[in-house]
Amino acid sequence: MSVVIRYNWQKAEIQAIYDTPLLELIYQAASVHRQYHDPKKIQVCKLISIKTGGCPEDCSYCAQSSRYDTEVKPQALLEKETVVSIAQQAKESGVSRVCMGAAWREVRDNSQFEQVLEMVKEVTALGLEVCCTLGMLTEAQAKRLSDAGLYAYNHNLDTSQDYYSTIITTRTYDDRLNTINNVRQTNVTVCSGGILGLGETVGDRVSMLHTLATLSPHPESVPINILSKVVGTPMENQPDVPIWDVVRMIATTRIVIPTADVRLSAGRAKLSQIEQALCFLAGANSIFSSDNGHMLTVTTPCPGYNADQEMLNLFGLEARPSFVS
Ligand code: SAM
Ligand code: SF4
Repeated sequence: MSVVIRYNWQKAEIQAIYDTPLLELIYQAASVHRQYHDPKKIQVCKLISIKTGGCPEDCSYCAQSSRYDTEVKPQALLEKETVVSIAQQAKESGVSRVCMGAAWREVRDNSQFEQVLEMVKEVTALGLEVCCTLGMLTEAQAKRLSDAGLYAYNHNLDTSQDYYSTIITTRTYDDRLNTINNVRQTNVTVCSGGILGLGETVGDRVSMLHTLATLSPHPESVPINILSKVVGTPMENQPDVPIWDVVRMIATTRIVIPTADVRLSAGRAKLSQIEQALCFLAGANSIFSSDNGHMLTVTTPCPGYNADQEMLNLFGLEARPSFVS
């Protein structure tokens, strides 16, 4: 199977891909993956939570929202030296992209933003791709991040437009799309995807992919998160997401947004090696790895560098260098 890049996908077409018999779907996605990417290469990313907790937003899955009583205690913005040292260590462990996350609703034009700009410059100077996820951005702020050398900006749609207000009430889908559009006015690449397991229907998943696949240009990176159920949040008792849904979602993303790095993100720690192998076969080519077993916060586990290196060796895969897309 070979596909061309399209921006005019219809929801019914995406639904038909999602519903393709499973092994045929994996085969088609694997073929598209080989058309646009080197299937031996996996992007290994490290997430650094530069500002943890105390977020005013009410995202109903999130351990960092101040609205819910979770294990996460608010912390101040990390010092630049701390961030650079974590990034340096990550680089030595084979990481090619560092994602700096802040539990903010939006970026403000204050001294903390100035500090983040300095972090972006210094971590980029290590030869690493830097991604930031800092909440909503104006075009002027996106431009300043771009001037600092930022490589990517993450801003997830999380779910469909229709289901969004069930999950988050403190901002709208249009706010999200607006920030993505502001980033698109600069040289910074876009990372945007969603979460499985929020109680959404298959139709919501298809609808979210439809929104992403009809953005022109497509996002360069699409994270597929599996809900990490955080005690104290409204999502703590959601049922598990079947692995087959994860594989279907990855494969469908690979087919409708062929050039993107499809990122198997939150929730990977709960997958066996066999399950992860299926995800890679279905077109996932990016992972988060860590030294301390945590991804975002203490409540979002992440596999370790050594375990991941062993897994990649076992599968005959290699970590991709920075700035090779
Ligand atoms: N505050 C910024 C924002 O929301 O854009 C950045 C940080 S936020 C933690 C980044 C992303 O992590 C969210 O958009 C969501 O997709 C993902 N995430 C957060 N908590 C999660 C959880 N418990 N399970 C799965 N994904 C989660
Ligand atoms: Fe805040 Fe981001 Fe968590 Fe939402 S996902 S509560 S915006 S840190």
